[in-house]
Amino acid sequence: MLNEGIEHGLTEADNLWQKDKMEEACGVFGIYAPGKDVARLTYYALYALQHRGQESAGIGVTEGNGIKIHKAMGLVSEVFTEQIISGLKGDIGIGHVRYSTMGSNLAVNSEPLVCHYLKGDLAVAHNGNVINAQELKKKLAANGAVFQSTIDSELIANLIARYAQDTLEEALTKTMIDLKGSYALVIMTEDKLVGVRDPYGNRPLCLGKLDNAYLLASESCAFDVLGAEFIRDVAPGEIVIIDRQGVHSHQFLSSVERALCAFEFVYFARPDSNIDGINVMEARRNMGRELAKESPVDVDIVIPVPDSGIAGALGYAEARNIFYDMGLMKNRYIGRTFIGPQQKDRDLAVHLKLNPVKRLIEGKKVGIVDDSIVRGTTSKRIVQLLREKGAKEVHMLITSPPVIAPCYYGIDTSERAQLIAAQKSLDEVRAYINADSLSYLSMEGLYRALGQECGFCTACLSENYPLGLPVGGKLGKHITEISTPKRKEVR
Ligand code: SF4
Repeated sequence: MLNEGIEHGLTEADNLWQKDKMEEACGVFGIYAPGKDVARLTYYALYALQHRGQESAGIGVTEGNGIKIHKAMGLVSEVFTEQIISGLKGDIGIGHVRYSTMGSNLAVNSEPLVCHYLKGDLAVAHNGNVINAQELKKKLAANGAVFQSTIDSELIANLIARYAQDTLEEALTKTMIDLKGSYALVIMTEDKLVGVRDPYGNRPLCLGKLDNAYLLASESCAFDVLGAEFIRDVAPGEIVIIDRQGVHSHQFLSSVERALCAFEFVYFARPDSNIDGINVMEARRNMGRELAKESPVDVDIVIPVPDSGIAGALGYAEARNIFYDMGLMKNRYIGRTFIGPQQKDRDLAVHLKLNPVKRLIEGKKVGIVDDSIVRGTTSKRIVQLLREKGAKEVHMLITSPPVIAPCYYGIDTSERAQLIAAQKSLDEVRAYINADSLSYLSMEGLYRALGQECGFCTACLSENYPLGLPVGGKLGKHITEISTPKRKEVR
């Protein structure tokens, strides 16, 4: 049914909105818990990480004799049934939710990836983007390696297998030295669970504990769901190996400069997560407060774009002591509703998703807060909705700096040509979305909100790519060479 609809020109209503947001690529989870129902715990954790990827989901488990896996396209709720979860028995488990970036949206690219190598079965789940993947694949292919998918996990598994004569720790270290780019990995062998974070710490990964079990997750919210305790973040350049003896840490590369994705705090991560010591909700609220200091616009009411603008709007409203309310109601059940290709269908989709509360905004000067503007199409629709419902003025307040450049580190941004702030001046963007005013948070304001000035990747906001840039500026088959800042090895 789904394909039939697409073939006939229908579009998912939700896509009209989602295409105007940066999209997180993946969420990863791992658990070492002999005696516990690891598949079920992984399943619940993936629910908590679902915001990081909605295209496919997978769980792999092992009892020490091979790895069993179930993965498919769709949401966690669509991919797993009670029967499937009950059939996945194991002492160690890993899980993955995916939004495709480099690999296309195909079942063969869903994760975890499982392969058999010299030492048994191996499963890999990855969040991020390896920027020298093509170069490494060419080298491996020259030695006879074959690839069935386009995902980095397959490359990583191949590299680990190539070093199989070494201990697991040595094989992982050699693999990570080969890789350039962004990765938070959860890997499972038949008797070990492994977490790895790239030397820049670009993507988050943390370690938790549930009774005698150890857990790894992209975000701490996955631990909260399970009633587990957050222990610490995996450090940039660290390999964590969990086995019967406990947790072993190995620093394979020192980080010359941390470059945690600043957009995790702007939009991707769940507000109830803590990443590298920063609470996401608090950071977003601070962004609103900083924007209020920088752009104190004269408005009667502050409303958020739900859900991405809620924390920023609260911060903005409390800093200026302005009335705050939910002036836009979001339909949370729109899901995969298909709409026709005509403009009237698209207009209807806007109303399906968001509806302004007329009583709150009619005759008012409205400050509408969102976390970012990517293409501008959503902002334009929202301004139009508010005007249709009688807003006297509409002031767009954005709690991040303008998105001016693509991400090469695992986030699905639009092409530069589609990033409205890369193509138009501030006033041209304001005119395009038809707002009375448009304010962005400054880079300084963003750093103040995050509480520190260094340690973040802000490449999509600043064009300063701390992990290096594929030559040619575009990933995929065009890559021939990588320029990467020097990093110090501490083997
Ligand atoms: S460019 Fe950097 S800050 Fe922007 S989304 Fe990618 S990793 Fe995050």
